[in-house]
Amino acid sequence: MRFDVVTLFPEIFSGYLDQGLLKKAIDRSLVNIQLHDLRAWSTDKHQKVDDRPFGGGPGMVLQVQPVIDCVEHVQKLEKTPSQVIMLTPQGKPLDQPLVEQLADQPRQILLCGRYEGFDQRVIDLLDPLEISIGDYILNGGEVAAMVVIDAVSRLVPGVVGSAESVEADSFTTGLLDGPQYTRPAEYRGWSVPETLMSGDHSAIAQWRRREALRRT
Ligand code: SAM
Repeated sequence: MRFDVVTLFPEIFSGYLDQGLLKKAIDRSLVNIQLHDLRAWSTDKHQKVDDRPFGGGPGMVLQVQPVIDCVEHVQKLEKTPSQVIMLTPQGKPLDQPLVEQLADQPRQILLCGRYEGFDQRVIDLLDPLEISIGDYILNGGEVAAMVVIDAVSRLVPGVVGSAESVEADSFTTGLLDGPQYTRPAEYRGWSVPETLMSGDHSAIAQWRRREALRRT
């Protein structure tokens, strides 16, 4: 699975991609993440990529030219063109079925907005899949892009050690995951449910299903 991320702040990604399952997935070439600095596509001598909105109003808008030039370059890096995703609060809410749909594609280009977002002509020209990670406003699309990368990568075979673990996740089964316990068996008077300690696999499975249904 390949992700090409177009951003004004590529450094934001380094800490996150250098840890845990994603780092292992990148090291094992299961996931390939390429970061593209939007400023590199500016034709301005100060590498400016934003300007004031026509019609007035607060903030700055990301200009169409650097984004289109960057995406056209990135598209040519692979033989088959990629779907383009724009992270935006106006987008389709990200949920597990959408994550599964994205995981079916070999590659995604992710556009991270900043300031007041993108010039509308970016949307008109690229016809991206607009995705929101929730009804709140972030400072930029980078955190949202990381959410997409993280959730989609979990579905790439081999990224999560146990396929069983992914299959049992909340939303994948249609039920929320039930409670989990580990050692010690008792902590400050709070004990692990006896059924989980019983060794009776069928009783444990029934208990887990009941708890998952209760949480759902
Ligand atoms: N005035 C803009 C609006 O209401 O849409 C806010 C833009 S926001 C400060 C800057 C960028 O952050 C957006 O272009 C988008 O890329 C990203 N962003 C903010 N909230 C987001 C969300 N809930 N989901 C996905 N991306 C988001």
